[in-house]
Amino acid sequence: MDVTWLNCAFMEPRGAKQFLPDMAISPSICLLVSRGCDHVLIDTGIGTLDCEDPMRLGFSNHILNARPERAKPAVVQVREMGIDPSAVRNIICTHLDRDHAGGLGDFPEARVHVLATEREAALHPADHREKDRYRPCHFSHGPLWVTHETAPGDRWFGLDCIRGIEGLGDEIVLVPLPGHTRGHCGVAVDAGDGSWVFHVGDAFYSREELAGSYNAGYGLRLFRRLAHLDHALAMRQLDSLNAVLDRSEGRVTLICAHDSKELSLARG
Ligand SMILES: [Zn+2]
Repeated sequence: MDVTWLNCAFMEPRGAKQFLPDMAISPSICLLVSRGCDHVLIDTGIGTLDCEDPMRLGFSNHILNARPERAKPAVVQVREMGIDPSAVRNIICTHLDRDHAGGLGDFPEARVHVLATEREAALHPADHREKDRYRPCHFSHGPLWVTHETAPGDRWFGLDCIRGIEGLGDEIVLVPLPGHTRGHCGVAVDAGDGSWVFHVGDAFYSREELAGSYNAGYGLRLFRRLAHLDHALAMRQLDSLNAVLDRSEGRVTLICAHDSKELSLARG
């Protein structure tokens, strides 16, 4: 399995330079997992229509400040790699926030894997916070949803998981990590030789959060209180991720979506 890192958004959150310097420039990291001519996209970033009309990203984009003119949608990057976008037959979304699901419409033939609770939240938001974060325009093309629920007893490095998904094989495992959103989940990819790449979406924003689960600067503490739907649950997931790192003894590489330092490291 080849794993290619893509950056499918360019955001300059307002005030971040002063209060949250680590996120002054935020990517939206997506992964393209390739097995021969079969390709799976993990998250989509923002899409081509968002780049043409940033108002599609909603009111909160005034804070996130996505800069479409500096972003390259996943579908463009896939084409540049010489891959026909229709060969991306499966997409997995860690969650359906605007900066992760905006590109779904660029792959209308792909099956879209997501936790059932996340699709429910996105299509039937319960309150103003959910209404703002999910954008109906990102789903108006009618995605080919495939929803998943945790099967009791299935575990990945001690966490509940969903594996053996049709079209994804045993090498891609969904790991529910609710908190940031109702149905937020991580996606683990078997990178061979017992090692795994684990994309955890917005479960954390900066490595310093893992260095002591609740440890973070003032700006980041404030930001995640605003960003996480269930802050206390999201904080407990940091403990889960640290437990995975302990149990895996160096075999798991964690990736969060918006850490520009990790993206630079991965790209050398
Ligand atoms: Zn995000």
